[in-house]
Amino acid sequence: MTLSLYDTMARAKRPFVPVNPERVTMYVCGPTVYNFAHIGNARPVVAFDVLFRLLRHIYGAEHVVYAANVTDVDDKINRKAADEGVPISVITDRYLAAYNADMSVLGALRPTFQPRATETMDAIIAMIGRLVRSNAAYTAEGHVLFNTQAYSDYGKLSGRSLDDMIAGARVDVAPYKQHPADFVLWKPSKPGEPVWESPFGPGRPGWHIECSAMIEQTLGLPIDIHGGGNDLIFPHHENEMAQGMCADHASGYANYWVHNGFLNMGDQKMSKSLGNVELVHVLIGQAPGEALRWALLASHYRQPLAWTDDVVAQARAALDNLYGALRRSADVQAEGDAPSEGFLEAICDDLNTPRANAELFALAKRLEIGTPAERARAKGGLLAGGALLGFLQADPEAWFHGGVDTLLAERIDALIAERVDARAAKDWTRADAIRAELTALNVEVMDSASGATWRLREPA
Ligand SMILES: [Zn+2]
Repeated sequence: MTLSLYDTMARAKRPFVPVNPERVTMYVCGPTVYNFAHIGNARPVVAFDVLFRLLRHIYGAEHVVYAANVTDVDDKINRKAADEGVPISVITDRYLAAYNADMSVLGALRPTFQPRATETMDAIIAMIGRLVRSNAAYTAEGHVLFNTQAYSDYGKLSGRSLDDMIAGARVDVAPYKQHPADFVLWKPSKPGEPVWESPFGPGRPGWHIECSAMIEQTLGLPIDIHGGGNDLIFPHHENEMAQGMCADHASGYANYWVHNGFLNMGDQKMSKSLGNVELVHVLIGQAPGEALRWALLASHYRQPLAWTDDVVAQARAALDNLYGALRRSADVQAEGDAPSEGFLEAICDDLNTPRANAELFALAKRLEIGTPAERARAKGGLLAGGALLGFLQADPEAWFHGGVDTLLAERIDALIAERVDARAAKDWTRADAIRAELTALNVEVMDSASGATWRLREPA
């Protein structure tokens, strides 16, 4: 089975061939941690989680390296920290814990690396230094700017020419820019903002440079897959590639650029002013994580997704259908642990989740009406296909009896076990981080002589 992916750069679906099948690399742009994640933020996380799981299935779990950054230096974070009168780390630790907790309830596996901008500062500064030395960047009025004319392929990913960019540039281009498309790598911090020492003066990095530095540090160029929402193609990914290529003189930046479509609230954009922002944190109190995950994957990842209550209700009904077949076939012994051929064909065709889901329904039907041998094979295929997509992870009985989401319960149990280990190893930083994640999940842990138990608090 050949995996093919739609590559934004080639503007075509291409067979996926990794540089090194022993170390398949994927990078996906992650969150800015200043608030709870909304369901639109979750779409790329879940879509690329499916790709991560599929790559692990094809190449083996230990041969896939996945990095997703955490932007913890940002104006919105600074504002929130100033509002609360706390250091930025209080804000970023809180919302990173909440983010990880929410995404794990949606069934997303944790990336292999989750680098934070504040912890990548040395690599960021070193990379900017190399860009300056090779004349791909210049300093002006306390800023370091990337010189877009230094990279001849600038605009290739998004299909824009530098001339278009001049025409499209706002009138108030900063006077220190040599070209309107040039962008900030380093800038002075305003009074009261976090500041880092650097050879270019005290200040802080621009946003784009962190991803290039993290890719260099965690994965190395060229990477196999770079993912993110299609709203990031320009300028973020265009800028990332220009910096990375000029700093590393690599043969390529990313061999496949994979972008997911936008999520709207019904037919409207999600926005604070419209009051239609749906936080994952709130949604997971209203529907099982698996149902939300299904709702995110019921449409193809490249299509726009209109999020409505109906989409969630349909997702629940779809899972009720599959779990129902499993519950009624509890006596059938599953045969095999590989997904069916039809399922794999669908998911390998640019992650065609609607077709893969249809294949799960076909298996569920066969599980109920087939011959005993067909039923056994159908059950094996259904469970394996479901597992590959992160579905059917609950006990069928438990699914219908509501209560705590099985995924959530498993995650909490795992966190508590990890916390016990961290405390035993006197790793207080880790123990505190786990505690923050449990708090974000509304979990109250009760320690006793016989071990820790837990319960969910009512959401505030
Ligand atoms: Zn990025």
